[in-house]
Amino acid sequence: EAPALPDDPTQILAPVPTEVALPAMEARAVSAWFGTHKVLERVSLSMPAGRVTALIGPSGCGKSTFLRILNRMHELIPSAALAGEVLLDGQDIYDPVRRVTDARRSIGMVFQKPNPFPAMSIQDNVTAGLSLTGVRIGTSERASLVEECLTRAGLWNEVKDRLPAPGGGLSGGQQQRLCIARSLAVRPKVLLMDEPCSALDPTSTRRVEETIQALAGEVTIVIVTHNMQQAARVSDQCAFFLAEQGVPGGIVEHGATAQMFGSPRDSRTEDYVNGRF
Ligand code: ADP
Ligand code: MG
Repeated sequence: EAPALPDDPTQILAPVPTEVALPAMEARAVSAWFGTHKVLERVSLSMPAGRVTALIGPSGCGKSTFLRILNRMHELIPSAALAGEVLLDGQDIYDPVRRVTDARRSIGMVFQKPNPFPAMSIQDNVTAGLSLTGVRIGTSERASLVEECLTRAGLWNEVKDRLPAPGGGLSGGQQQRLCIARSLAVRPKVLLMDEPCSALDPTSTRRVEETIQALAGEVTIVIVTHNMQQAARVSDQCAFFLAEQGVPGGIVEHGATAQMFGSPRDSRTEDYVNGRF
């Protein structure tokens, strides 16, 4: 059984009990704007190493924005502004002396819609991210990396006989696991997943969940999901985001998944996790 996690988001600045996994990623008082529209207000969240953190909450409350901030993608959007800090293993990923590619190489991202390069072979899809982040690799090393990443993504057995076939020929669920394999190829410390199963059927969803469960422990995972059963199945801790009328998004409550579902402290969390919204 996993030890209890601090359930008050403000506690991240207090000493962490020794039995609690150290945070791989930590957001400190993160606020975000699009132009003059403030969409996140001082969000603090600690994402412990090797654990799965689920971000839940209604549409429009800033979950995807928060995820993009964790990967320095927010700054790619014109008019986007940011305040606060994001630490990866204690280092500020926004530190101007660190290159963006250093942070991105440590942080994989998987989106709602599977986005493999459709015309590119399955094997080349897996390694596509390496060249983008400036990593060179030999041919035999490449073959073993392809096998390793497809295995970790739970796809190897299904595709091992057709590695040169185009990625676009796979089913939606297979394409999503191919995207997971591609993100694993750079050996990320953190994997960010934005509603990775929303476009998938129940069987494919189950496969992706199994993949997440197998990766937990090795990789720190942050997953946005609207599926409460999925949050309950795969996550160790949950953060409930909410943006109420005219108020920017923020975390209402955060804690161990069992507590969030079993005995939420805030009535808004209780309503949300029980489908009353
Ligand atoms: P969620 O993922 O929880 O549905 P988002 O992070 O996508 O929420 O959106 C949070 C708020 O930010 C919403 O009000 C949305 O309209 C706004 N927003 C998101 N992306 C952009 C963008 N590129 N430009 C302007 N506003 C945006
Ligand atoms: Mg979203």
